[in-house]
Parts: sequence; structure tokens; C-alpha cells
Amino acid sequence: MSNSTKYVFVTGGVASSLGKGIISASLAKLLQARGYSTTIQKLDPYINIDPGTLNPYEHGECYVTDDGAETDLDLGHYERFLNVRTSQANNITTGRIYQSVIDKERRGEYLGKTVQVIPHITDEIKLNIQSLGQLGEYDIVITEIGGTVGDIESLPYVEAVRQMLWEFEDDCIVVHLTLVPYLAAAGELKTKPTQHAVKQLLELGVQPDILCCRTEHELDLNLRKKIAKFCNVAPEAVIESRDASSIYDVPLLMQAEELDEIVLKKLGLSRKSTPDLTNWKSFLSTLKNPEHEVNIGLIGKYVELKDAYKSINEAFIHGGTAHKCKVNIHWIHSDKLTKTNVDKNLAKLDGILVAPGFGSRGISGKISAVKFARENNIPFLGICLGMQCAVIEFARHVIGWEEAHTVEIAPDSKRPVITLMESQKNIEDMGGTMRLGAYKCELKSDSKIYDAYNREVIRERHRHRFEFNSEYTEEFEKYGMIATGKNPETGLVEVVEIPSHPWFVGVQFHPEYKSTVEAPHPLFAAFIKASLDNKK
Ligand code: GLN
Repeated sequence: MSNSTKYVFVTGGVASSLGKGIISASLAKLLQARGYSTTIQKLDPYINIDPGTLNPYEHGECYVTDDGAETDLDLGHYERFLNVRTSQANNITTGRIYQSVIDKERRGEYLGKTVQVIPHITDEIKLNIQSLGQLGEYDIVITEIGGTVGDIESLPYVEAVRQMLWEFEDDCIVVHLTLVPYLAAAGELKTKPTQHAVKQLLELGVQPDILCCRTEHELDLNLRKKIAKFCNVAPEAVIESRDASSIYDVPLLMQAEELDEIVLKKLGLSRKSTPDLTNWKSFLSTLKNPEHEVNIGLIGKYVELKDAYKSINEAFIHGGTAHKCKVNIHWIHSDKLTKTNVDKNLAKLDGILVAPGFGSRGISGKISAVKFARENNIPFLGICLGMQCAVIEFARHVIGWEEAHTVEIAPDSKRPVITLMESQKNIEDMGGTMRLGAYKCELKSDSKIYDAYNREVIRERHRHRFEFNSEYTEEFEKYGMIATGKNPETGLVEVVEIPSHPWFVGVQFHPEYKSTVEAPHPLFAAFIKASLDNKK
């Protein structure tokens, strides 16, 4: 273990969805703002190798890193808060731990030993935690353990934490997130669930250093003292975590609770300066005092589950602040859009975004939405499948190829305007085999996309198997849809535009993954500006 790196473990008790990811990201932000280089890692106790094959209904959005890892959506929060890139090493699952141990066993690396959960699985977990520290780039690694303490599947992780606390006691601490519920009938906050959650952690040999208590009401000094007494922590290490109106408030709320100071004290690190949150605060002040407002429709098939489009939602928040603009997202179900009701449903929108996705459900609604945006000069942004729908729509209704489709849905289409990438043709496994991660894209100078980025070469992240069929480029361009961005090595068409339209851009990549608080994404900002100019 690198003796200069310190480790903060974040665990959760009482209930899931307490916001460990946001607390971890907020703590990391405060430490970073004090001058400590910090990263965050998420350990997910499920057996899937990664969430890439999971249905969004199960796990929300699948976030993609520059190096092509398909990861938990918490990594998106980490990047958005810290403005620092994450990688494959920042998200580990039980599946990956077991796969690695089993591979080692097959190679004979355990020298005839019986391979067991303890020590082999726990050693592998520790190895993965320490691998980030060993890079030598980080002063502090925050490791968030997914799930709730007490779950059978998270036991080996808590055991790995216990061992690390024992082996490197000066360099590791535990922040435990719990819930202090309010019982309306009694008119009281109740600390018992927190006491029990800590007891459960103690049974596993782990004494938390800091308790972060989610609550809807103020946690007064008496309650803090009570929790402190029952849970063996100092009263100042009982942190109140109140519900916030925006996740971006949480770093400031945690600063007010002095979470970062307590963490540094427990880790034996100096406080350095006070956190420099100038940019963060100016972002928040713009966010809370918008001068304009736009209405943008997000057309997708998972709109009842907003987590499925987490990064797009956040990119709108960041991009809006670039123009002092509040973006009202109208979540519109692609399943429910038809040729006949599209006018009524989309009429009041200033801009239309057609979301990424897979499979045939909702496709015809997405195509109807594109047609409506194109014909009515409404600013349009199509992302991945959204861009592919824009291509299909243009082929059908402008070029006149009624059979035009993507081979993902119509494998025998006579006009396969979206086709399987060459590199995908012999792939059989579903997991981790898409075109993933960041690729370069060269932009045509006379284009909306170039105006947005003001750069000739960009690097954006991908997650797809199908692509614009470049056999048809000439025909599309003749009719007015131009390929304005291409991969310089493979020639794959990554961006299409209709120059005769006020703002119509389709991108094969996912710009939303790279938007952060401190660097709002230029394409989202440009789309919002175009929607603002078109305001009804
Ligand atoms: N299903 C499409 C493909 O695989 C689009 C993927 C996406 O929108 N992420 O190419």
C-alpha cells in the first residue's frame, strides 16, 4: 500500500437510496477544494461483471468512461462534481472480483490452496481498493460500498474494510450513512434505526468514525449527543445530512457541518487552506437565479424512470447555467407518441431531444418526434439512437425511401441507412462488446457542431453497435443532410446536420457523459441557446 494515500470508506445502513454517491462526491469535492487530490471508487456487490447488460429499469443509466468501462451511474456524479475523469478502476463488481480470482485459480496461482471467500475474495477486493492508491496520483481515495450493511452480498466487502482498518489503522476511516426517520404521529425524529445500523456494523468488526445521518428535520445537539453516546463516536462526528433542493447544494451543506475537517482530522492530515469553492458557488448562484427559461422535450422510452437519463438531465442543468437559463425538461414517452398526436404533444416545446436507446419499443414515436422538429424548425438534438432515428426519418420523408430503417430493428431492410459496424459483425457475447469509450471526431468547420465546440477535433464517448451507413452519404448530402463529423481513422460518420434548419444536430456519441459543473458541455449549451432563440 502506498503510505502516502489515505482511504475513506463510505458504507450505508438502515435503507438503500440514502445518497451515498452524492455524499461521497460532496466530500471529495471539499477535499479537492482544499488542495487534496481525491478520487472516488464504487464497489457494487452484484454478480454482473458490469451494469452494461442491465436493463435501465434495474439500475438506471449505464455510465461510460473515457477508457470504455460501462459503469454505475454514481461515477457520473463523481466526474460531474470533481471535473476529474474516472476509469475502469473506479467501479468494481462482485462479478469482476470472482472472475479475477477464478482466472488466477485456473492459472495455478494459489499453489494448491483451497480458494475461499476469506482470504482470497477479500484479498482481491483489497487489491482493487489499493490499486487506485498505488497509482501515486491521489492523496485520498474514497471507496463507496454499494448496498446496505447486513446484506449477504456485501459481507465480503465489509470484511475487506475491517481488514484494511486493522492493517493500516492510521490511513483508513469509515463514514457510515444512516437514516434518522421522522415519525409524524409521535412528532419526533427516531435514532433507534441508526443505533441498530451501527450495531450491525460493529458485529462485523467495524467501528464507524463518522456518522452521516439523513434526515428531513434538524438534528439538534441533544439528538447528536444521543447518537454519539450509543454509537461510540464523538458528537461532532455526527453529521446532519438534510434533504437538499439540488444535489449541487450538498457540498456546501457538508462544509457547514465540517465533514471535511473531521475527515482530515481523523486521517491525520492538515486542513491546508479553507476550501476554494468560488467556481462552485458561482455555478450555484447562476443555477438559482436564472434570467431565462426554456422548455425542452426529452423523448425516450424510460421517462418514468428519470435515473435512466441521469447524465442528460445533469448536462441540461450545467448547460443551462452557461446561458443563465433554467431548462424545464418535459419527459415524453416515445411509446405514446404517434403520427397523429405528435403535434399536440410537442407543440409548446422550444427544443426537442431524442434520447439514446436500444430495441424497437418507442422507435416510431421517436421518428415522429424527429419529423415534427425538422418540419417545424424546432431545435433538435439526437443522441446515439436519437441520431439514428433522425437519419431514418430523413431517408423516409425527405429522400423518399419508405423502407429505410436500422438493421438493429429491420435486419432485412432494403435501405439499411443504419447498419452494423464492421467491427461488430463477428461478436456473439453481449457484455462489454459494444464500441465503447472515447474516440476522436473531426468536425467540418462550416457547421453548427463546430460553432458549438470551436474546435476541429473533439473526443467523445460512445456506446453502440450500429452506425450511419456511409454507402449513402452522397445521397443524404444531395438532399440536405450533411455528415459534419467523422472519425479520422475509420471514417465513421459521427455527426449529421441539416444546414437549412435553424439547429438540427444528430450525434452518434454521448456528449452528456462529459458535462461537469465546472465545464458545462458546449453542445448542450449550444442546443439550449438555439432553443432559447426559438422560444415560444
Ligand atoms: N441501439 C443503438 C446502437 O447500438 C444505439 C445505442 C445507443 O443509443 N446508446 O447502435
